[in-house]
Amino acid sequence: MGKIVAIDGPAGSGKGTVAKILSKKCNLVYIDTGAMYRAIALEALRNNISIDDEDKIVEIALNSKIEFIDDKIYLNGEDVSKDIRTMEVTRIVSPISSIVKLREILVDMQRKIAGDNDVIMEGRDITTVVFPNATYKFYLDAEVSERANRRYKENLEKGIETTYEEILDNINKRDYNDMHKEIGSLMRTNDQIYIDSTNLTIEEVVDKFRKEIV
Ligand code: C5P
Repeated sequence: MGKIVAIDGPAGSGKGTVAKILSKKCNLVYIDTGAMYRAIALEALRNNISIDDEDKIVEIALNSKIEFIDDKIYLNGEDVSKDIRTMEVTRIVSPISSIVKLREILVDMQRKIAGDNDVIMEGRDITTVVFPNATYKFYLDAEVSERANRRYKENLEKGIETTYEEILDNINKRDYNDMHKEIGSLMRTNDQIYIDSTNLTIEEVVDKFRKEIV
């Protein structure tokens, strides 16, 4: 196992943005585990599989090859980086990620992708389940209205049509679901370094992380 920087936190807290910057500055391989759950959700949508059909969703995961190349995510050789960010995927990803067997498969994949590399991995259960012995463990947080605001602006920039209310509602639902899972729930623990990004710029958040990572 190489050096592992593990970051958990709710949607829109800034994990992705910060992890990408830190990966470059600190020479770490960046792994976005939310993108992996999104890729499986996308494949379920494409095949008209109901979110209640757990067996079929597990089958998708067993037959999927997920790779990260140059900050892009590939599902069975196809670049799906854009397709996994639509509201259709965002709506179903949290319930899908509650499927225990699916989590086992993806957690296993996440450990394999990390391999012996020095990595920065972000998600909901990285500090607790995927790498409980990570070198550094962070919980990145922000107030829900600020998180919804950030997502709304991001979507506008990407040309994804949504209202602020729709995003706020989705984030609230995902927060609740992500914090009440049978396995892999998002939770705060005593051994995480807690950072609240509500009133901080990206640079200020990155600085806080860098002070901890030696
Ligand atoms: O990080 P992102 O918001 O893209 O993640 C999408 C969804 O995937 C989350 O709302 C959560 O339900 C799920 N997820 C998870 N475990 C992780 C990462 C993401 O359950 N490690």
